[in-house]
Amino acid sequence: MCNLPPKFHSVCRLCLSFCGDNCSDVKLPIFDRDKDKSRLSDMIMANLSIMVSPTDLLPQVVCGSCAHKLDEFHTFRELTHKSERLLEQFLQYANSLSGPKEVSYHIKTSTLLL
Ligand SMILES: [Zn+2]
Repeated sequence: MCNLPPKFHSVCRLCLSFCGDNCSDVKLPIFDRDKDKSRLSDMIMANLSIMVSPTDLLPQVVCGSCAHKLDEFHTFRELTHKSERLLEQFLQYANSLSGPKEVSYHIKTSTLLL
């Protein structure tokens, strides 16, 4: 067993911030008790491509600041995916109205203008 500093498991898993007992920044557990996954673990893996597991030996907490950023980033990511779906749906709709040749002509024209 290696010699870990006593507070190793109390640092934020994402930014390594640590504050002592008097710190007001609450550390949030990544995993719910006795569960293999949680909303936080899903967001970390999906948005940051960092693998977390309740059985890994790394810190199992994140700071409030990182949790907030993760929430905002997750919301932004969902917005961009929704926008992408809406654009594709619009393209299909436009395609069905005017036929593929005319729409692809418009796309090429607008791409060239940008
Ligand atoms: Zn943090």
